[in-house]
Amino acid sequence: MTAVEIDASVADIIAAYKLPDEIPFGTEMAPIMFSAEFSDGTWQPGELVPFADVPVNPASTALQFGQQAFEGMKAYKSVDGTPHLFRPDMNWRRFSRSAKRLRMPVVPASFFAEALSSLSVALVAFVPGGRGQSLYLRPTLFGLDPQFAVKGSKRFRFLVLASPADAYYSDPIRVMIERESRRAARGGTGAEKVGGNYAASLQANENCVSLGFDQSLWLDPVVGENIEELSAMNFVAVIDGGIHTPAPSGSLLEGVTRDSLLKLAKNLGIEAVSREISINVLLNDIESGRCSELFACGTGAIVAPIAAIGEADGREWSLRDVGCMSVRLRESLLDIQEGKVEDSFDWIVAAAKVNDLAKFIARPR
Ligand SMILES: *Cc1c(COP(=O)(O)O)cnc(C)c1O
Repeated sequence: MTAVEIDASVADIIAAYKLPDEIPFGTEMAPIMFSAEFSDGTWQPGELVPFADVPVNPASTALQFGQQAFEGMKAYKSVDGTPHLFRPDMNWRRFSRSAKRLRMPVVPASFFAEALSSLSVALVAFVPGGRGQSLYLRPTLFGLDPQFAVKGSKRFRFLVLASPADAYYSDPIRVMIERESRRAARGGTGAEKVGGNYAASLQANENCVSLGFDQSLWLDPVVGENIEELSAMNFVAVIDGGIHTPAPSGSLLEGVTRDSLLKLAKNLGIEAVSREISINVLLNDIESGRCSELFACGTGAIVAPIAAIGEADGREWSLRDVGCMSVRLRESLLDIQEGKVEDSFDWIVAAAKVNDLAKFIARPR
């Protein structure tokens, strides 16, 4: 297996591209992407193509039925200038699970590696190297067949988009407990990374923003008592000095960042617990002082401290130690992700050697 070749027109587009002076988060698109089609029961060769609109049939299963899944991951600039990836095996396993859940073909580990490797190597000059900066990568998979009968497609497109991104260091966020609407159902697709989950979160999120908050905090879809997560980030509470995060429930998305922080915290001698967390017990713990801090975590924001948690009726609880533990964990995680300290967890892999990358991605857990 070799990385895909870059044709002359794509090379020209890369040569003409310049990083903006101020790198934003999530809006600056790299000028090329990886694209491949699944048809006739197999994956066709992939290629690097200009980043542009793609033809999508208006009656496609992607547009009509939401047959779409994606991933969010990052390539970092190594000390030697080459790109490396952080735990891409976790993203591949989750991407495979999402694909199966929506009856789409799995992208084989070797093909996933080829896409990530060829794209990040072609864009190596545009992997920003400042603290918290990276080339954000967005693998995307969707159904192409036009049909109004509800059944799966036979043709699919696999894209990997790239976005030079700065750290998403916002001010500490304010979250609103969402008591009415639910992001995902038990037995539904909440544990997979599929676009429909986000569509289902938009209205409630807009409502919470209109009430002066930044993000909705979702509760479990069965009784609305246990905390699940935010719309694109997992949730962590610091209680009696340990970190506590909701256990996988079948309807929350298990983040790579969540898993990494649990392992990192344990390694730092901090108690790290994955368990059911009742919202009402948590609010009592904040009032009594047992819970000193809350934060959210995900690939984009890495770690986002939470300043306050509130209800739609205006009640609000401020946190005592905003950023204390979370900033320490964020810095430790960034040190590993950026290759500033030894990778004792075996989480980092170079992007250039595609066969090694494929082995890393397919390795058993
Ligand atoms: C992607 C995502 C997360 C964070 O996952 P990471 O792998 O850490 O980026 C959390 N919740 C939802 C709903 C997500 O889609």
